Amino acid sequence: MTGIKIAIDGPASSGKSTVAKIVARDLDYIYLDTGAMYRSATYLALKNGVSLTDEKAIIKLLREYPISFGRRKDSQQMVFVGDVDITDPIRGNEVTNNVSTVAALPLVRQALVELQQQIANQGGIVMDGRDIGTVVLPDADLKIFMLASVEERARRRYKENLQKGIETDFDTLKEEIAARDYKDSHRKTSPLKPAEDAITFDTTDVDIAGVVTFIEERAQKIIDSL
Ligand code: C5P
Repeated sequence: MTGIKIAIDGPASSGKSTVAKIVARDLDYIYLDTGAMYRSATYLALKNGVSLTDEKAIIKLLREYPISFGRRKDSQQMVFVGDVDITDPIRGNEVTNNVSTVAALPLVRQALVELQQQIANQGGIVMDGRDIGTVVLPDADLKIFMLASVEERARRRYKENLQKGIETDFDTLKEEIAARDYKDSHRKTSPLKPAEDAITFDTTDVDIAGVVTFIEERAQKIIDSL
């Protein structure tokens, strides 16, 4: 038994990656942040002056500068394209506000989904994104769709930014999150939506520990039944 597959999807800033990381650590599974991959493709396009809708050129850049993950000494995840560390730049405003455009490109999705499926074949995995339960791992053993109100998600992101020393305007943040959700939910290819067999969980009034417990209890039941 190599472990189960857990898919965690949901809108921007719903806390998916924070929770997914903890669950993966507790189960000793691989964690894959698929959003970081779409962010990496966006970074490459911006950095190389390539149009954000030129999918062939972006695919070429992804081949030239493959995405890989590493770990900092404090066990923080690192992201590379080729041998360039882009862990911090992919979280900046420029990438965040353009990523939904790149993520709507079918060829880019195809290339990244292939990579995600290869990584998932290595064993127990917790993967977070927008289309994990619907497209990347339709056979996942456990599918969670995490929700939270836009207000609450903006509040969480605002707090996170403050901790990083980044000044942000709350209303702008709220608008940016809502705009990204709209684009991600309305694109033709693999839009953000819960899989039919996903458990939808509204985390607006639930803290991180509560969400982790909710997922781990369900994961454990599945593991015990195998
Ligand atoms: O999860 P994160 O907010 O880092 O994702 C950044 C963007 O990447 C999303 O807004 C979405 O456009 C795209 N994405 C996607 N499919 C995934 C993961 C992320 O389209 N599986």
